[in-house]
Amino acid sequence: MYLQDNKLSELARKIQKEFVIIDAHSDLLFDVVRKRQMGRRKIIETDYLPSFIDGGINIIVASLYIDDEFLPEMALRRALQQISALYEEIDESFGKFVLCKNFQDIEQALMKNQLGILISFEGVEPLYNDLSLLNIFYELGVRILGLVWSRRNFSADGCHFNQIKIGTRGGLTDFGIKLIEKGNQLGMLVDVSHLNDKGFWDVIKFSKSTIIASHSNCRALASTMRNLTDQQIKAIAEKNGVIGINASNLLVADKPSDATLEYMVKHVKHIIDLVGAEHVGLGLDLCDSLISYLSPFTLKTMPFTPFDVLQGHKDLNKFIEAMLNIGLQETQIRQILGQNFLRVLKSLSPDS
Ligand SMILES: [Zn+2]
Repeated sequence: MYLQDNKLSELARKIQKEFVIIDAHSDLLFDVVRKRQMGRRKIIETDYLPSFIDGGINIIVASLYIDDEFLPEMALRRALQQISALYEEIDESFGKFVLCKNFQDIEQALMKNQLGILISFEGVEPLYNDLSLLNIFYELGVRILGLVWSRRNFSADGCHFNQIKIGTRGGLTDFGIKLIEKGNQLGMLVDVSHLNDKGFWDVIKFSKSTIIASHSNCRALASTMRNLTDQQIKAIAEKNGVIGINASNLLVADKPSDATLEYMVKHVKHIIDLVGAEHVGLGLDLCDSLISYLSPFTLKTMPFTPFDVLQGHKDLNKFIEAMLNIGLQETQIRQILGQNFLRVLKSLSPDS
């Protein structure tokens, strides 16, 4: 039986407030570094935290994304600047948010009602071709290993958003395989978002640890290569992984005019129908505030100017309402909002 509309939106707000919510992908550090270099401080506290709190976000994964303009020489420096900026912001904001390196840190953050931040690689350009640097980044707190952004590097080929001119692409390189093995040893999660198909299947073959797609949708509903085929969704589920639903119009629908909240929920439903609600999470990738920073070369690789289907984290209640509207149960929504990613984050090494 369906509830009245106003009852439904009330329930959605209640869920947003009470359930643990994890967003497995944000490029906020990309923004924080630039603003700090302009002399500002407490960027996370002033520009991000209010909307995280409004949105009910408990845990966010901050990626180390390196824009083309810094490649190749400045990638390492830029990644270190991003981590350093996060450390400084944490110090300046006196416990309002914390870095989480293991599951105990996450539990503590939840208990103390602090925002927990995890760090991920969105492309290993900062390592260049030096395997030994992975240890250092692990020590600094990086716990999720995404080999590529949508381009080629020493480890693998990224998939592109658009049909651009590219040469013949391959799977993981020898370096990519060693990285996966080293990441497995360290107890990092492996992230397949942005990998091309050949690389994806190599990760499935070589990785022993849990695999996530931190911010990817379904290719059956939006044809970009950034999205996952049904076979890929099944393979991630077989590894007990989770797929973070992405709110970028580029991944929600082929035409910008079709990219609505309702259409975004179709991706959730598609994954549930294929493999169950245990494998759906959020990796919202909210980017509206970052578009102006992207280099023209990066923007050129995208078929349209990207926009966020969800107008900030505060609008998550509308997404929850849309899930209730199609008949999803509260238990399923609880899993999708946070419990599934919590399950995989439990596999992080406890003693780090
Ligand atoms: Zn991305």
